[in-house]
Amino acid sequence: MAETLEFKAELKQLLHLITHSLYSDRDIFLRELISNASDAINKARFDALANADKLEGNTDWKVKLTPDKTAGTLTISDNGIGMSRQEVIDNLGTVAQSGTKAFLEATKLAGKSGDAPGLIGQFGVGFYSAFMVADKVTVVTRALGAPSGEASRWESDGQGTYTLEPCEKPARGTDVILHLKEDAKQFLDSWALRRLVRKFSDFLEHPVVMDVEKEVGEGDEKKKETSEEVLNSRKAIWLRNKSEVKAEEYEEFYKGLAHDTDPPADVIHYAAEGKTEFKVLCFVPAQKPFGFDYEEPVAGLRLYVQRVLIMERCEQLLPSYLRFVKGVVDSSDLPLNVSRELLQQNPLLDTIQKSVVKNVLEALAGMKNLEYEKYLTFYKAFGGVLKEGIARDWANRDKVADLLLFESATTEPWKFTTLAQYVENMPTDQTEIAYLTGESAEQLRRSPYLEAFRAKGRDVLLLTEPIDEFVIPQLGEYKGKKLVAADRAGDTGTGDVPAGVKESFAPLLSFFKEKLPEAADVRLTNRLTDSAACLVADANALSAHMERLMERMGRDAPGGAKRVLELNPNHATVEAVRALHASNSADPRLELYARLLFEQAVIAEGSKVPDPVAFANRVNDLIARDAKPAPST
Ligand code: ADP
Repeated sequence: MAETLEFKAELKQLLHLITHSLYSDRDIFLRELISNASDAINKARFDALANADKLEGNTDWKVKLTPDKTAGTLTISDNGIGMSRQEVIDNLGTVAQSGTKAFLEATKLAGKSGDAPGLIGQFGVGFYSAFMVADKVTVVTRALGAPSGEASRWESDGQGTYTLEPCEKPARGTDVILHLKEDAKQFLDSWALRRLVRKFSDFLEHPVVMDVEKEVGEGDEKKKETSEEVLNSRKAIWLRNKSEVKAEEYEEFYKGLAHDTDPPADVIHYAAEGKTEFKVLCFVPAQKPFGFDYEEPVAGLRLYVQRVLIMERCEQLLPSYLRFVKGVVDSSDLPLNVSRELLQQNPLLDTIQKSVVKNVLEALAGMKNLEYEKYLTFYKAFGGVLKEGIARDWANRDKVADLLLFESATTEPWKFTTLAQYVENMPTDQTEIAYLTGESAEQLRRSPYLEAFRAKGRDVLLLTEPIDEFVIPQLGEYKGKKLVAADRAGDTGTGDVPAGVKESFAPLLSFFKEKLPEAADVRLTNRLTDSAACLVADANALSAHMERLMERMGRDAPGGAKRVLELNPNHATVEAVRALHASNSADPRLELYARLLFEQAVIAEGSKVPDPVAFANRVNDLIARDAKPAPST
């Protein structure tokens, strides 16, 4: 006789929650049931360690899926430890387990943030997830050591009660029979099952099998034959020792994981032992894989708990500046289900992340030192992403800084220097690291700002990526040397203009200031040797490059972006204008000269003159005045 027993009240709530809020991610029911079956097999093996006879020769360990289209059922069977009557009551009909309570708390928390399904989907909900796809679940189970007549049959529609009765079961283990809901009949399809097993349980230790019918023979001899197909690859190579894994195996695994066609540039594979244990297998891609979204700042590693996929992309395992890294983490110290505590609050995840970051940065440093060409290819693809680490990973910024490559005023096009090399090559009287930002190294190499540096035998780093503008000021200094923009006002180590020169230019500077309201200031500089004039950003203002970037993004640059016009007092043109002004400060040409000096400085910094036609007219005036036939001699 089947007894009818009632679930505890909380369980009703739970079942309701699961069946109603998990709709979007209900695929996970199969992962949960297969995991339970696999656990049951492990328990049986463990239990029989001392007494193998207990297993009665039934040791062909496997989890079997049996879709039955006629009956509309999907059965998940195992030959694991099974359950006694009391265990069925305790395990499938009670809410005394901490897991269920924790789950309810978690959903309450998640409910507040409106993310219940996502959260639940990540944690797994164990056996009860069966009710997402089934309107009735039957469990037939016979415990290890129990005779065939002492099996139990549990059945419930998930509405608050279940029935329990004794039954016959020829073999040890558990059959979970799902009477699939009308809208869940796709789980009878063998391709759908194959796909789900490969997704969630591919690396499970035990085979997950299914009977498939195949046509064999030719012509009249043709007949259908049923054979058992193993659905999972079972190759969790991250669990093996590094020395036991072949390069081809890594490569194959990486390609499947990253959807990349090239082999990875580097493999990072290790097992952390000690207080917490986890295994890490990560890859650094050689090139940007097709579809890598540079802008999308999300990273993540696959998280497995004992070979079972828990999360496709666990963001807590990898900071976003390492988002090019692909890989898996497997930890047996994490709960498979929500049972013990919330995964997201688990401090183990932070420990793992720290360890992964450390190992990835070390691997990159090794590649840079030992396989420079490979590193260069990697860097061209991902250097811009890596740089974000300067701003985002305070603790590791020095290590990240050491991985950066820069073109400089003295490097050949497309050759690079590093901060360390730059510092090493600094002349003894140089105390700061100079850099210049702009669109291309080629253009920057022609910049007037480099003149004084060149004259003094100093190098300037040329930064051409948009992110440099944000990152370099964040870095601030390297090995105690300040990073200073070469186009900023202030001391760039080029010395002061002598007082006598300043005095003689003072009236001209006031005149320029009056005529050039678009300049924040006009002053003399020593930073130029060949050019007559240049524009510099005030120490705290945005640089010209930054402003152009903001304009391109359609944003107004704050602060009006006025720049300081600097004049080279040693330049013949500037000296001629000064002399003209000294002899007749009312000469109408003076204003034209002021404007032209300003405009050539605008062009030299890579910006556009606001009125190109007016500029051309001014130049034409000069040409017309100058283009007299040379006096014949
Ligand atoms: P969890 O797996 O987190 O403990 P579940 O709700 O999935 O939670 O399962 C509850 C319990 O039921 C399991 O701990 C296990 O003892 C028992 N159980 C579930 N499925 C099986 C199975 N296939 N064979 C034996 N015991 C099982």
